[in-house]
Amino acid sequence: MSLDEYELPEIFDAGDQLWREHAACRGLDTNMFFPERGDYHGVEAARQVCMSCPVRTECGEYALGFPDYAMPGIWGGLSGRQRREMKWGKAS
Ligand code: SF4
Repeated sequence: MSLDEYELPEIFDAGDQLWREHAACRGLDTNMFFPERGDYHGVEAARQVCMSCPVRTECGEYALGFPDYAMPGIWGGLSGRQRREMKWGKAS
């Protein structure tokens, strides 16, 4: 299953997701974008795909709209931790 086929839980407002049609991750295994905690190689591999993605901004902005309790995975080249820091600042 690829990210463009990924079924988001109902808590997410699907909104306009036409950008997904241009995603660099289309056709790739969705699991690649949900690496295990501490799998730095997996995170880097996902980010490499995102860095070449023409809709990276749209994807990252979309993921920033996720509720704080549902922010796993690499979206727009950003990890859940990076998105939380962007949204609420660094934890002290
Ligand atoms: S930024 Fe990454 S996760 Fe988002 S659509 Fe592009 S390749 Fe997929």
